[in-house]
Amino acid sequence: MNDCIFCKIITGDIPSTRVYRDAQAIAFRDINPAAPTHILIVPIKHLDSVNVIGAADEPLMGHLFSIAKQLAAQEGVADDGYRLILNTGAHAGQTVPHLHLHLLGGAPMKHPMG
Ligand code: 5GP
Ligand code: ZN
Repeated sequence: MNDCIFCKIITGDIPSTRVYRDAQAIAFRDINPAAPTHILIVPIKHLDSVNVIGAADEPLMGHLFSIAKQLAAQEGVADDGYRLILNTGAHAGQTVPHLHLHLLGGAPMKHPMG
């Protein structure tokens, strides 16, 4: 049995505020937003993290960025700027083991590398 929280959001077993869906990916608002706009862009295919992507997943990874671009424009944050974050593993603070791209925007952010 798959008890992945994002797989359950994809199937609708767990509710979410969905902002996008196509055959490859879904996007919904983060339950604990770290910025005025905080959207998670999630492939339908369960991949634990970037560590397991293969050559066949390259178009999918590119597609996630195309969705991010589209949603940034839709949210009105494209011109002022936004951040895309993809946490991988414990040291990066990945808490949900289903690959996802964070889209953050709507206010100035501190640069993560100082
Ligand atoms: P990570 O730390 O793995 O990069 O990001 C996981 C994100 O998923 C966190 O920002 C967290 O707030 C969000 N999250 C965890 N559970 C849920 C949920 O049930 N619904 C939604 N919408 N977001 C969630
Ligand atoms: Zn999953």
